[in-house]
Amino acid sequence: MKVLRANTAGFCMGVGLALKRLDRALQEQRKPIATLGPIIHNPQVLAEYAKKGVRRIARAEEATRGACVIIRAHGIPRTEEARLVERGAQLVDATCPRVKAAQLAIARATRQEQCLLLFGEADHPEVRGLLSYACAERYVFGSLDECKTLPLAPAGRYVLAAQTTQDIRQFVAIQAYLEQRLAGGLPSLQTICDATEKRQSEALEIAARVDCMVVVGGRDSGNTRRLAELAAGTGIPALHVENEKGLDAAFFRGKLFAGLTAGASTPKSLIDAVEFFLESL
Ligand code: SF4
Repeated sequence: MKVLRANTAGFCMGVGLALKRLDRALQEQRKPIATLGPIIHNPQVLAEYAKKGVRRIARAEEATRGACVIIRAHGIPRTEEARLVERGAQLVDATCPRVKAAQLAIARATRQEQCLLLFGEADHPEVRGLLSYACAERYVFGSLDECKTLPLAPAGRYVLAAQTTQDIRQFVAIQAYLEQRLAGGLPSLQTICDATEKRQSEALEIAARVDCMVVVGGRDSGNTRRLAELAAGTGIPALHVENEKGLDAAFFRGKLFAGLTAGASTPKSLIDAVEFFLESL
């Protein structure tokens, strides 16, 4: 089987930087080292770091005094960061520079009590972090349909923003809808990361040229799930797997060309292994 692999498959800048910071802390033998939540959404990478002694804590209250706590690429809520400082943890901020820019843009744009309208997944850690930077009321919604149900005052003051990994096409549709609905105008923050947009566009280009698509990445990774949805939406058979063990040769019977892409938190070694499997068919 021939494989068309996306150039954009794998670690984005933010994930690469976050892991470099964690690696540096390990090299400097800073102990104990913990991440607040998973540093990235990839179970295989997390298992490797667990073996190296990196602890994962779920709440700031679990941090011990003097512990080195890495703030993950998705960022964390402001209150959580303040609690870590209060507890005497040494923070290493590995928040992706683009997520940090989105957090600060939200804080600036809402400081005069504007209400934040955030297009994103309510239970995603990045979204919880972004919401914490809003200075006034805030709503989060995951689709245009959900946005239509929000109780918005036509003359109210609102600011629109998105989780960095959201689909730009849906964001533009939401923006157009809200601009019509709100008489008071609608400033929009451009918080969607172009790494996501490029990855999504390349996936669609590839899907148009192959018989099937394979998307590699953690089940918990929002951007990987969206890539898989996009690929499936083109009408060709599409598979989302975490590694080559999730592949079944029967799925590829009768197919000649497979497209291959991966989420922003998928290591190269896992993509290589999937490519190797597909080429061996
Ligand atoms: S997808 Fe973009 S915003 Fe998200 S971590 Fe990667 S570089 Fe940062």
